Amino acid sequence: MAAVKELFDRFVVPSYGRFDLALSRGQGSRVWDVSGKRYLDLGAGIAVSALGHAHPEITRALAEQSARLVHVSNLYYTEPQGRLAQAIVTLLGPGKVFFANSGGEANEGLFKLARKFGHDEGRYEILTAMNSFHGRTLAGISATGQDKVKKGFEPMVPGFRHVPFNDLEAMRDAISPATAAILVEGIQGEGGITPATPEYLLGLRALCDEKRLLLFMDGVQCGHFRSGRFQSFQRILEPPPAAPGGPPTAPHAPEPDGRKAAAAFLPDAISMAKSLGGGFPIGAFWVRAPYADLLGPGTHATTFGGTPLACAVALKILEIIARDGLANHARALGDLLKQRLTRLAERFPDRIRAVRGLGLMLGLELAPDIAAFAGNGKPASLQLVQRLHEAGVLTIPAGPRVVRLLPALNLSASEAEEGLAIFEAVFARLG
Ligand SMILES: *Cc1c(COP(=O)(O)O)cnc(C)c1O
Repeated sequence: MAAVKELFDRFVVPSYGRFDLALSRGQGSRVWDVSGKRYLDLGAGIAVSALGHAHPEITRALAEQSARLVHVSNLYYTEPQGRLAQAIVTLLGPGKVFFANSGGEANEGLFKLARKFGHDEGRYEILTAMNSFHGRTLAGISATGQDKVKKGFEPMVPGFRHVPFNDLEAMRDAISPATAAILVEGIQGEGGITPATPEYLLGLRALCDEKRLLLFMDGVQCGHFRSGRFQSFQRILEPPPAAPGGPPTAPHAPEPDGRKAAAAFLPDAISMAKSLGGGFPIGAFWVRAPYADLLGPGTHATTFGGTPLACAVALKILEIIARDGLANHARALGDLLKQRLTRLAERFPDRIRAVRGLGLMLGLELAPDIAAFAGNGKPASLQLVQRLHEAGVLTIPAGPRVVRLLPALNLSASEAEEGLAIFEAVFARLG
């Protein structure tokens, strides 16, 4: 550990706050550090390792495609890119896909799409939500509704304004003659695991139709079946299950008039990355049919976008998720985890204030004044994550008071139980 850290101290730009942990290998939802200590990985590389670590079929797909063709550039056609685009369109609806290499770059594509869309009318502005996160490029931090990512990098790229999340009237009031698009996450991730309400999403769709704006969704973290559906808005907008006698367990979907709108809901474009490549870097955006040819030849490009290697891996991941029923698994296991964590919150109301999220995208909001965390100046989220490390579990902080669970979609029920037992022990010791 000390030797690896020494290399970083001397040679790596110190732009990240890192935990004192050097990881060397993984298998499924297990990872080992350089000293041989084993951890249960409930963070999956920030919602990236969709099938866990070292999945044998992904390893084989990587090896086979790399022995055939890794990269040729977008001057030529390659079959895996076309097939992956087809698979994504099949999951969403009529449209087309552009391939990039990260979430930030996928969002850059959306920003350019909005500018192109509004250009001839002098419209360029994109409205986003407070507490959102859209990446660390210059336009990404301009789009992000959190001051901490902008600090020291001003001036921002012009044309972005932020309004309170889940507040339809605030969004309506913010629209100006220059507005071209609205961009929101279905479930705010970095902002602390806050799902959009069904009413908000349906309201945004109607507002965008009324004002001729593009509706964009950032599905980089909450997408790719994490919620139990391919995109989180599909889960959020599900009608409540018909459970005679019992209360609905899903978020409340809108009643009759809203039902048709919910079933027909589609944004105009969706950005993706993180789980899309399961750890192999790839990003993408899907754009709905009427706007699918806005970015014509020569208008947008990236050298590495949609390489045969990245696309072959992403295709294999989609195939395994479908074959193994991992969407339903993520939903069921996520619901169970949420229920059990909610019970833990009821047991320790002085330690856990709320449990939020859908499927395998869950957040624990910590109580504001946990005595065990007082006095050392470090955010409570970091202190809890560190204690969980000591107890053998990896989780991800989101801001100063939220800890996220973003495990692999194929996390097993017994691994989830093991994680819950560790959470329980760690929270009990915080008393
Ligand atoms: C991680 C993330 C991004 C940025 O993706 P990178 O691959 O880090 O550039 C953008 N939007 C959301 C919602 C994210 O969670």
